Amino acid sequence: MERAVIKYRHCGRNIHRFSAPDASYSPRADDSQRRCPVCQQTLAFGLLDAPVALTCPIRNGHTVPCAFLIGSMHGPSHLGEWHDTEIHVGLSNSEGLVYNYTLSGVRRDVRGWEQCVSIRLCPPWRHELRESWDRELEQFSALPEWVSERFDEEREFGSCCYGFALTFINHMRSLDGKASLSRDQFTGSHILPRMKTVSLYINIYHAILQHGFYIANTDHDM
Ligand SMILES: [Zn+2]
Repeated sequence: MERAVIKYRHCGRNIHRFSAPDASYSPRADDSQRRCPVCQQTLAFGLLDAPVALTCPIRNGHTVPCAFLIGSMHGPSHLGEWHDTEIHVGLSNSEGLVYNYTLSGVRRDVRGWEQCVSIRLCPPWRHELRESWDRELEQFSALPEWVSERFDEEREFGSCCYGFALTFINHMRSLDGKASLSRDQFTGSHILPRMKTVSLYINIYHAILQHGFYIANTDHDM
């Protein structure tokens, strides 16, 4: 998912394409890029209808501090759907180190989360919360609950990596005077809305790869 997706309006529709590497609408650009795929007219954008770039929801998790990260072992294209069994989740600290619970216990990854979905959990202006986040996350990861031998035991409650991350989030919420969230509450309020956007982006991306453009259905516009 390296290419940038742009969106513009023509013929009353929202049209998505990859942005061309250089001056896309210059006379030197590839002819098909300069024409509207619906009406075949040459595109001439005015002041207020310049194409806008879509924000790619797949990011380098090591650059997002204090976040809940969702990765897929099958690559970013498989992040569009929320299947507990195929995803792996972790938590980044303020330095981009990713803590995640695996068969071999808690790992602290400095790489491997370059293409994932990230949900920031700590507001950037809460400096004291950010500082305690790192300290608490390190202490929490050392608890006997998260030794490798218990990984399968935890599995009956759903995916273990998720249990690890959510238990920590609830621990931080309790320090902040907030009530715990159940798995369904956290999934419903924080994960599913984001995964909907991710899945839409992935569909658009694949459609452009296949057909050269994508015309948005107004109900599901991005
Ligand atoms: Zn057109």
